[in-house]
Amino acid sequence: MRVQLDATMCDGYGRCAEFAPDVFVLDDWGYGSPVAAGEVPPGSEDAARLAAAECPVKAILIHEARDAARTRG
Ligand code: SF4
Repeated sequence: MRVQLDATMCDGYGRCAEFAPDVFVLDDWGYGSPVAAGEVPPGSEDAARLAAAECPVKAILIHEARDAARTRG
C-alpha cells in the first residue's frame, strides 16, 4: 500500500501523523508529509486508511497494494 499527500490541499491540521505516526511526519508548521516515499510499513495499513478518512481536507490518497494489478495478468 502507498499513500500520497497533496501538499497543495494540506492545511496543517496534523491529524495524519496523530493517527498514523509510522506513515506521516509533520514539519515545524504542522504540515504533513509521507515517510518512506509513501510506502506504508506492514501493519500500518489500517492506520493509514484512518488518517486518510480523518484528514479534514481529504488531502490523502490511498493506493492499495500494487500486487492486485500484477496478479491480474
Ligand atoms: S491531516 Fe490532512 S490537512 Fe492535516 S496535516 Fe495531514 S494531510 Fe495535512
